Amino acid sequence: MPYAYDDQNIFAKIIRGEIPNDTVLETDHTLAFRDIHPQAPAHVLVIPKGRYVTFDDFCANASDAEILDFHRTASKVCEMLGVNPGAGGGGYRTVGNAGEVAIQEVPHYHLHILGGRPLGRMLQPA
Ligand code: 5GP
Repeated sequence: MPYAYDDQNIFAKIIRGEIPNDTVLETDHTLAFRDIHPQAPAHVLVIPKGRYVTFDDFCANASDAEILDFHRTASKVCEMLGVNPGAGGGGYRTVGNAGEVAIQEVPHYHLHILGGRPLGRMLQPA
């Protein structure tokens, strides 16, 4: 049962409105909000409102409308944050952690958008 979804995870509670969040953008299918422990001046989490655990779960099981809306919303967030390279923001990094190897803390699929400072190399050597 790799994708057993825990309805008590913190992002499920945020979607249900049980825990407050600093919303950047919301659509019918997607919510984007600021990370509570930002690792860069711009650090926003983009999550589908549906019950998906990881990127592969989302891509395999979400509808085309959810997948399209998720990515369009993430792109709009980059624009709103002013981090797009073409817009002079210098660029950004998107990160999606899945499972124990990536130390996924919250078991609800989410994309980190990070920017606003030099971010260094993606990974340190093992
Ligand atoms: P992960 O390690 O699962 O990729 O990242 C989870 C992220 O969720 C972390 O960056 C953490 O700071 C953030 N986070 C955890 N709990 C909350 C919360 O209650 N509110 C917000 N806005 N972010 C949270």
